[in-house]
Formats: sequence, structure tokens, C-alpha cells
Amino acid sequence: MSEKTSRISGFHTWSVEDRIARVADFAGLGEGERTQLAAPSNIGAELGDHMIENFITTIAIPVGVATNLKVDGRDVLVPMATEESSVVAAVGNSARQCYESGGFTTSMSGTEMIAQIQLLDVPDPHRARLVILERQAEIAEICNACDPVLVRLGGGFRGLEVRLVDTPTGTMVVTHIIVDTRDAMGANAVNTMAERLAPDIARWTGGTTLLRILSNLADRRVVRARATWTAEAIGGEKVRDAMVAAYQFADNDPYRAATHNKGIMNGISAVVLATGNDTRAVEAGAHAYAARTGRYRSLTTWEVTAEGHLAGAIELPLAVGLVGGAVKIHPTARALLAILKPGSAEELARVIASVGLAQNFGAMKALATDGIQKGHMSLHAHNIAFAAGAVGEEVGEVARRIIAAKAINEEAAGRALADLRGQ
Ligand code: NAD
Repeated sequence: MSEKTSRISGFHTWSVEDRIARVADFAGLGEGERTQLAAPSNIGAELGDHMIENFITTIAIPVGVATNLKVDGRDVLVPMATEESSVVAAVGNSARQCYESGGFTTSMSGTEMIAQIQLLDVPDPHRARLVILERQAEIAEICNACDPVLVRLGGGFRGLEVRLVDTPTGTMVVTHIIVDTRDAMGANAVNTMAERLAPDIARWTGGTTLLRILSNLADRRVVRARATWTAEAIGGEKVRDAMVAAYQFADNDPYRAATHNKGIMNGISAVVLATGNDTRAVEAGAHAYAARTGRYRSLTTWEVTAEGHLAGAIELPLAVGLVGGAVKIHPTARALLAILKPGSAEELARVIASVGLAQNFGAMKALATDGIQKGHMSLHAHNIAFAAGAVGEEVGEVARRIIAAKAINEEAAGRALADLRGQ
């Protein structure tokens, strides 16, 4: 019988085999997926050579599973690919602290992407703008004819915007085609449409088209997640108020906001990568969205509820897919997606936003209480011990000694290892 709860205590103390078995049971994985997860090397040379140019090898990134998340009433175990220690633990810990108060509640604005067509050399940009807008029905037909599969699945052209962008070299007429790309991230889908449409736009307006490419500021694909942490669950009002002050710092100072949002992306990019999606697309969209008011701000908001609890919310564009790109062909990404089993790209985005909010909670709580180094450095000490040549049980012992000596560096680890071996 599989247990459908994501609340697993002490998961970090289990053996790797036991963890895989539990996750596989939770998700009802088949033999092929279990085998793929148990093989830490990910793809063979043949697939690698097919995926990118000048392929020579692969670099393995550890995948951990974040526990304790409940998203819209559903318990989920979330795979996260990251080379950074503390990230997976922070999500599980933070999610545990809001599990009893209901976990995460999410929504999404839609799955529409924007492709831009840049038009130059028009003497009368205002007229050109209207000429293009008048052709909306024709444009819809041209775009939809590019992707009958997408249209059959309920996606396709949704709308048109034409903007005048003043630049030092003149006014450019920028056409946005808005396309619902459903369960695809959609870059290829909308780029194809933009390229197909550009010659018509040039012909209708008498101008010259140049760039034809999607915008990663996917502000018609905005996902939102919120959660409440009771003051009791997080250690009292003092902690709560310190966290709100930490958020206010980030929201009002770009130097702090960059690091605050980097922490959020520690969680988000890890799930995006694990599921074979495009981390750069999501990161570009997130940071551009954070600066949408003209000032770079926090992607999250934090406030105290009428009952005195801590309420957090996150809002950002999340263009991720379940088809297309590497998602469909990377066998490990497929197996990891099978753990999550999102019913749609939207559902995946909702889980990812929840992870981002949990990550932000964890980082802010650590910073506003013990400081980040306490948790971070003890995990980091294990990496240092590894780097100094410790193996097996030596790793934990060397880490313990360099933490106790408050000297978490490779030299101290080397000395601790030599002492240990000399004993
Ligand atoms: P894609 O073209 O490989 O797949 C999308 C297509 O799959 C759709 O157009 C549709 O025809 C079909 N499809 C089948 N089932 C579908 C479903 N349920 N929902 C929607 N479509 C379905 O991939 P894509 O998503 O258009 O493009 C993603 C890739 O483009 C990523 O690899 C990304 O890295 C890359 N890319 C990104 C950028 C950027 O972000 N700036 C630019 C260029 C390319």
C-alpha cells in the first residue's frame, strides 16, 4: 500500500534505496522509472549528442526530494536538482511548519506566451500600429495554421497587442502575438508563428521586420501561491516580526532583493531543472517581473494576519511545460515528473511556485534568527570533508570536528582527517 502523505519525518536519515522505494511507492512508479532513478548517471552519449551540439559528456547534479508539501490540498513529493546544500532541507522544513495550517493555495493567470515582432523603418508608426491591429482575424489564422496540434489541444492564438517603442534610433513598432501554449513551454511554438507572420507585417506596413522571438517576461503566465504559518509554529511573534522586517528590507532595497530572490530561485530553478524545463527562461522571467514597477523588488510579500499569523505570498511568471524541449526526451526528467504527476503544465507551475515560497520562508527565518551559516555550514562542512579526501564514515567525523573547531575550511579538514587516520 502506498502512503499518500508527503509528511515524512527523518527522511534524511533513510538510506538512498529506502528513499527511492518510498518515493516510488508514493507515486506508484513502474519498474522502468525505479531503475532510472536508481541509476545516478543520467543520459547516455547518444541522447546527449542528439540534444546539444559538440557534445562530450554530462555533469551529474544531485536530485533530492522535498517532503511535507501540500499544494491545493494534494500532498506532493517534489524532486529538486541542485548542487547547493541546504536547499532541499529548507523547503521540507518550511513546508512542515505550514502543513497543519493547510499548506499552499495557488492560482494561475493562464498559459499564454507572447512573441514579439520588431518593425523598423516606418515613417508613420501610429498608422502602422492600427494597420496591424485591423488584421487580427487574418493574423489569428496565420498563427493557428502553424500549429494545428496546439489548436486541436485547445491552444493557439489568443490576442494581439501593438506597442510603439521609442529608441534613440527612432520609433519601433512592436507586435505582440499572444498564444495559449497549453502544456508546452511554448518558445518554439510561438517563435515559429512570429517568423511566419513577419513578412506579412512588413508588407502591410511598408516597414522592415527584424527580430521575431518570444518574450521571457511571460506576464500572461503568472502563477501565485500563498500560505500561512501560525506564530506558534514558527517560534513566536518575535520571529514573525523579524521575518516581516527581513521582507521589508528586500522589498525596499535592490541589493537585498537580489539575494532574497536568488534564494527563491534556489527552490524554483531546482524543480525546473529536475523536470527538464528551461531554467534560464524561468529566471529571466522572474527577475524581469520583479522589476516591472521600474524598481527591482521582492517576488514575495509577507504580512501579519488579523489572527497574528505570518502570511506569505509569491507571484511570478512560470513558463514550464510537460511536452517539448528536453522534457519529453530526458529519461530522468520523465521519471522525476512521474513522482509529481502534474495533470497539466499549470499544475506543475503551481507546485514550483509553492516551493519558491517555502524556500523564501526558510531563508528568511534562518537569516532573521540564527543566521544562515549555522545550518548551511554544517552541511557545507560535509562537502569540505569530502573535498579534503574523507571517505565513508570519515566524512561525518571530519565535518563534526571542523564544526566544533569553528574552522570550516579544507586545510582544517585535512588536519582533522590526518588526526583521525593517525588515531
Ligand atoms: P516544442 O516545439 O518542442 O513542443 C511544443 C509543441 O508540442 C507544440 O507546439 C504542439 O504542437 C505540441 N504539443 C503536443 N502536445 C501538447 C500539449 N499537451 N500542449 C501543448 N503543445 C503540445 O517545444 P516548445 O515548448 O514550443 O519550446 C520549448 C523549448 O524552446 C525549450 O527547450 C526552450 O529551452 C526552447 N527555447 C527557449 C527560448 C527562450 O526562452 N527565449 C528561445 C528558443 C527556444
